[in-house]
Amino acid sequence: MCPKVLKRVLVIKVIEHKETVMMPDTSEDIRLPVACPSCGSHLYRVNQVRNPTDEVHCASCKRYLCDYHEAVDMLEKGPGDEAEALIEKVVNRRHH
Ligand SMILES: [Zn+2]
Repeated sequence: MCPKVLKRVLVIKVIEHKETVMMPDTSEDIRLPVACPSCGSHLYRVNQVRNPTDEVHCASCKRYLCDYHEAVDMLEKGPGDEAEALIEKVVNRRHH
């Protein structure tokens, strides 16, 4: 392959990469009862695929909070002792 063609291939690769990066965001925001320990936000970002093991991050400062299945548990339990206990577990674990 002559250097000219090689250069063209590289340029195409860079463009492809840019398109991948600029693809529509596949994440969505969810509101959780637990506040972010860094910024106090209740808005978190999850992947639309919603795998139980996907990480849930703060929508503002991107800090990791918990796994998606834990976030679902919190939302399903709603306000109450069980939800409080779960939130406490998540919050305490972050300090270790
Ligand atoms: Zn935050």
